[in-house]
Amino acid sequence: MIGWWRFFLVTAVCSCAVALPAFGADRDCQKELVDGHATFLKEQRAVNFKTGAASGGTKADKDLVAWLKKWDAVVVKHENAHKKAAGKWGGEITYYYYTWWGKKYATSGCMHWANNGRNVPPDIALKTALAPDEPSSIDLKIAEDAKKHIKIKKSRDFCRTHNSGANIRLCLKPYAGYEWLDRVSSSN
Ligand SMILES: [Zn+2]
Repeated sequence: MIGWWRFFLVTAVCSCAVALPAFGADRDCQKELVDGHATFLKEQRAVNFKTGAASGGTKADKDLVAWLKKWDAVVVKHENAHKKAAGKWGGEITYYYYTWWGKKYATSGCMHWANNGRNVPPDIALKTALAPDEPSSIDLKIAEDAKKHIKIKKSRDFCRTHNSGANIRLCLKPYAGYEWLDRVSSSN
C-alpha cells in the first residue's frame, strides 16, 4: 500500500448547469469522470505496480510511469477527438488526474459542450460522440439519443410541411417534449 498517500484526486470545478429534460446534448461529466477514474484505479491495481514502485528510479517505478503516460495519452487523444468533431459546439475539457512524484497524469476526461449543450444539432452530437477510436458506453448512449433526435426532428419538420391548422398539432403530439429540436439547425 506504500505510495497510495501520493494519490490526489484533482476535481476541477464543474460549471455544468443542471440539465433540463430534453435539453439536448448535455452530458453528466461528473459521473463520466468518476467512472473513468474508477476504471483507471481498477486497471492500475490489476497491473499491480505497487511493489517497488514507491521509490523512484526502480524498474517498477519506470514501468508505472510508462503505463501512466500511455493512459494519459489515450485519455487526452479521446477527448481531443470529441473536441475536434464538436467544432464550435465543443467546450472545455475537464480531466481527473493521478499524481505520481509530483507529475500529473490524466486518468479520465470529459468534454463539456459550449453553452451547456443547449441546442446542439443532433448530427453534431452524433459525430462528436463517435469521434474517438473507442467511444465509451456513455458516448454510445449519446449517439443513440442523437439518432433518435435526428428522426424526431425530421418528423416534426414533416408535420409542419405536410399538414395545416389543427392537424399540425395533432401530428406533433407524439413528439411533445422535443420542442427544443425546432430551435436546432441541421448542420448539413
Ligand atoms: Zn468519450
